[in-house]
Amino acid sequence: TQHLLTQFSSHAGLGTLLAGNPELALAQARAADARRAAGERGALLGVPLAHKDIFVTRDLPTTAGSKMLTDYRSPFDATVVSRLAAAGTVTLGKLNCDEFAMGSANENSAYGPVLNPWDRTRVPGGSSGGSAAAVAARLLPAATGTDTGGSIRQPASFTGITGIKPTYGVCSRYGMIAFASSLDQAGPMARSAEDCALLLSAMSGFDERDSTSAERPPQDFHAQMLQPREGATAAQPLKGLRIGLPREFFPAALAVDVNGAVRSALAELEKLGATLVDVSLPRTELSIPVYYIIAPAEASSNLSRFDGVRYGHRAEQYGDLLDMYKKSRSEGFGAEVKRRIMIGAYVLSHGYYDAYYLQAQKLRRMIADDFQQCFQQCDLIAGPVAPTVAWRLSEQGDDPVKAYLADIFTLPGSLAGLPGMSIPAGFGEGGMPVGLQLIANYFNEGGLLHAAHAFQ
Ligand code: GLN
Repeated sequence: TQHLLTQFSSHAGLGTLLAGNPELALAQARAADARRAAGERGALLGVPLAHKDIFVTRDLPTTAGSKMLTDYRSPFDATVVSRLAAAGTVTLGKLNCDEFAMGSANENSAYGPVLNPWDRTRVPGGSSGGSAAAVAARLLPAATGTDTGGSIRQPASFTGITGIKPTYGVCSRYGMIAFASSLDQAGPMARSAEDCALLLSAMSGFDERDSTSAERPPQDFHAQMLQPREGATAAQPLKGLRIGLPREFFPAALAVDVNGAVRSALAELEKLGATLVDVSLPRTELSIPVYYIIAPAEASSNLSRFDGVRYGHRAEQYGDLLDMYKKSRSEGFGAEVKRRIMIGAYVLSHGYYDAYYLQAQKLRRMIADDFQQCFQQCDLIAGPVAPTVAWRLSEQGDDPVKAYLADIFTLPGSLAGLPGMSIPAGFGEGGMPVGLQLIANYFNEGGLLHAAHAFQ
């Protein structure tokens, strides 16, 4: 623990760590040692990790990457945080992320960007960029992330690590600062599917404090991952597995390097016994406008709590109450957050609600139905995570739409609430990592992890 904490400070230039509490980490490490000495055996006992700064923590500050929450202290721990702590993990600190998890490059953090350890001139992806970069740089073996529209899968792809976003409702959202509540899900980011399975087992499970938490018995995802498939052989552990390739996930415009790495990973899966089938997700392109209506709509509502009264930044000088709200919010929020609040308020406003928000909700249902059509023909869906490898810092300038368009392959699964993973597939332009995305049907995290583990 001591060594890892020192590592973090010597790699401070990557911009991953926002806050740490060495005394707390050492105390947790000693407690884990004591539990082990008393005969306890848990895979996560004493395992160091850090949390995306979107999870509230009692013993460490929580900022959500926003100036709005500078110096904010939560009176409680998020459920994901307390469950991992109960499993004996050691919390090294809080990790940088895009402000309120809005972004795809970690360039929207009020605390500076995060650099990609493979090439420090490039972004690590986002919004869980700090988590991805810290794991990829081997500063720690695992980190938590959250995924609303791709924020676990895309940074995992950009940094060559493994990440899983479970089915909506598998991990409690209690204490996860809300961005778009109908989409937000927590998940682990680590070096392998196996590590993700161990972490997910500890993080997940029903929580009565989250009304959207799935009421299911506790799951042992590690055991599910190891469960052999019927008819599997040692050489062909994936025999009989049908992997659907949505043709919309392989457009002519897909970068050649990404296509190449994904195709070679698919060939490996075939060698392991899987068969590839052609499927279609006809509304893939529509998932971009649908998501960028629904997510900002929910964000505009969720972020109304930051009013400078109960918590968060308050302007020093103001006139009346309204002026206090205005000044506090315009000083506390960054440009992307303001843009989303405005879009969200617009699409929800009288006269536009039917034209935008309601339409988006209907399309969301159709996108989810399209997946069910596909799952009639296949067990898992595969494709790229992102259309390119990690881009360069500031490359997208101030055109937010460029980043929105790059979410095309992660948004459909998010809108449908399906579990999805990114596993390292190979390398592309500039020697940068490329991820393979696997998507499963609801609550089939076990099947997803099984295939990923066989591949790795
Ligand atoms: N890039 C997407 C956005 O900016 C997804 C973010 C996320 O999953 N938190 O909204």
